[in-house]
Amino acid sequence: MTAKVIDGKAFAAKVRAEVAAHVARLQEENGLTPGLAVVLVGEDPASQVYVRNKHASTIEVGMASFEHRLPAETSEATLLSLIDQLNADPKVHGILVQLPLPGHLNSELVINRIDPAKDVDGFHISNVGLLGTGQKSMVPCTPLGCLMMLRDHHGKLAGLNAVVVGRSNIVGKPMAQLLLGDSCTVTIAHSRTKDLAEVCRRADILVAAVGRPEMITGDMVRPGATVIDVGINRIERDGKAKLVGDVHYESAAAVAGAITPVPGGVGPMTIACLLANTLTACCRANGLAEPKGLTA
Ligand code: NDP
Repeated sequence: MTAKVIDGKAFAAKVRAEVAAHVARLQEENGLTPGLAVVLVGEDPASQVYVRNKHASTIEVGMASFEHRLPAETSEATLLSLIDQLNADPKVHGILVQLPLPGHLNSELVINRIDPAKDVDGFHISNVGLLGTGQKSMVPCTPLGCLMMLRDHHGKLAGLNAVVVGRSNIVGKPMAQLLLGDSCTVTIAHSRTKDLAEVCRRADILVAAVGRPEMITGDMVRPGATVIDVGINRIERDGKAKLVGDVHYESAAAVAGAITPVPGGVGPMTIACLLANTLTACCRANGLAEPKGLTA
């Protein structure tokens, strides 16, 4: 079998177009412009690229983008005071603090200072608790993007066996909660899991969020399974820099029913879902109906 390729780039473009259409309607009918504030502390090169991309995508869908770039030596008090200011600003519906923060800043303290209703990354402890108890929350962007692609491919997910490899707070755990919310039978695997290959082979849906290049190979995939590769790993092969996932694409694609490539799979969905979350936050803040198909 050769797997169907799930085209995350095309899907993300569709999500962004839907968000843009909603934003245009909100402006026309309600005089509202959703606004996203992004806070970057320091000069981490990868973070600078992410922040630039987020700014460009926000503008492209017609939202307002507020960028706050602070020097690496910014004190916790200054950062917390900026967050208080953004929490109180009615033009700002979503707040994202780019991680990682410089070592002297307490990330948990900073993230938990964001108003949970504006926490478009879904990392605030209140949103984590709401998701865990199946209540309306802001959902982390990467797992939300994976869920959207899975729903689009399968329709209903109820009853499917899902295996999530990785138990991080930003990907693995929320992914598992979302799949459980859609009534999958969910297994979470991690570095201490015994016989990982056998566990993975039980999966109708296999999500890899490990951070180890090409670790999940074709022999670990059940024939016909859907494979979602969250991994982004920069490696060097044949003297050239290359981006690969956590899944060994060629061997897995030969067995799977459907698979996301790297690049062009989960990656583009993450920013699209950040925009979707900002739109959702704006609708909720103003007592308006949430956009259909863009939330969990
Ligand atoms: P973390 O490093 O926080 O978590 C990795 C998880 O993988 C841990 O739970 C760890 O287990 C598990 N793990 C590590 N080694 C093994 C192993 N040999 N067998 C089984 N499990 C193992 O990573 P993240 O969740 O933050 O990210 C995962 C990947 O997703 C990375 O490649 C990252 O770059 C990518 N990513 C992509 C995004 C996107 O937009 N596409 C967004 C966020 C992340 P344990 O807990 O036991 O240590």
